[in-house]
Amino acid sequence: MKILLFGKNGQVGWELQRSLAPLGDLVALDRHSTDLCGDLANLGGISDTVRQVRPDVIVNAAAYTAVDKAESDAANAHAINAAAPGALAEAAKATGAWLVHYSTDYVFDGSGSKPWEEGDPTGPLGVYGRTKLEGEQRIAAQCANHLILRTSWVYAARGGNFAKTMLRLARERDRLTVINDQFGAPTGADLLADVTAHMVRSALPGASDRIAGIYHVAAAGETSWHGYARFVVDCASKAGLPLKTSPDTVDPVPTTAFPTPAVRPHNSRLNTAKLQGCFDLKLPAWQQGVARMLAEIT
Ligand code: NDP
Repeated sequence: MKILLFGKNGQVGWELQRSLAPLGDLVALDRHSTDLCGDLANLGGISDTVRQVRPDVIVNAAAYTAVDKAESDAANAHAINAAAPGALAEAAKATGAWLVHYSTDYVFDGSGSKPWEEGDPTGPLGVYGRTKLEGEQRIAAQCANHLILRTSWVYAARGGNFAKTMLRLARERDRLTVINDQFGAPTGADLLADVTAHMVRSALPGASDRIAGIYHVAAAGETSWHGYARFVVDCASKAGLPLKTSPDTVDPVPTTAFPTPAVRPHNSRLNTAKLQGCFDLKLPAWQQGVARMLAEIT
C-alpha cells in the first residue's frame, strides 16, 4: 500500500509518521517539502503531488489550527481548512485513492451536555469551526471513499500543549485559575495516529465504501480544562516535581474570565460509539494518555 501524508510535522502528523510506516510505502510531506508540493495553500501543487505519487490512501493532518487568529485571518483559514481538503478530495477521486482527514468538535455549537453524535446538527461558533465544517462538506461531496475523524483537545509530547503550560505555571505560581465550564476529552495525537492506522488497514483499496464517513474519535471519559489542569498538577506532584501549586490551589473560573477572539463551545463531548462499533476498537480513558505523556516529558 502507498500512503501520502500531508502535515507530517504537526502533533498528529508526527505520530502518523510512526503509526503509518509499517503499513506500506509512506511519502510524508510538510509545507516546506521540495521534491513534491506539500503546501496546502497551493491547490494545483497538492493535486499534482497526488497525481505523481498515485497513493492508495491520502492522509491529511495539515490544518490551520490557530483558532483565535482565524477570526481575523479568515481567508487563509478557509484556504487551508476548506479549499485544500476539497482539492485533495477531487484528486483522490480522480486517482481512486481513499482520503483520511481530521476535523473537530468545533463544528458544533457546544450546547447541552450530551456527547455529540456524527449526525447531529452542526453550528460552528467561529471561523475555525466554519472552515473545518466546509472542509468536511467538500470532501463528502467530492470523494465517496473518505474517512473524516472529528476529535477534540489534542495534545502530544512533542511541541507545546496545555499540560506543559500548566506545569510551567505551577512551578512559578502559588495558584492557577482555569476554566471549568468547557467539557471534553483530552485526546493524544498518538492515540489518533494509532486509530488512524487501524482504520486505514480496514479501508484498504477495494474495501466497501460503506465504512466511509465521519467518525468521532476521542479518549474515553470527560473533564473540564480545570479538571485537566488539576490532574496534571496532581500527577506531577506525585512524580516529585517541585511545584508551587497543588491540586487544591487550581481555582475554577468561568469562560467569561478569559475573553478570547473566538467563542469556544462549552460542550465538546464526542460520542465515539460508531467508531468503536464499526472498527472493533476500544478507546482508553483520557487520564491514561495524559499520564503517559507527562511521564515522557517530566
Ligand atoms: P497542529 O497545529 O499541531 O499541526 C497542523 C499542521 O498543519 C502543522 O504542522 C502546520 O505546519 C501544518 N500546516 C499549516 N498550514 C499548512 C500549509 N499551508 N501547508 C502544509 N501544512 C500546513 O495540529 P494538530 O496536529 O493538533 O491537528 C491535526 C488535525 O486535528 C487538524 O485537522 C485539526 O483541525 C484537528 N483538531 C485539532 C485539535 C487540537 O486541539 N489541536 C482539536 C480538534 C481537531 P506549520 O507548523 O509549518 O504551520
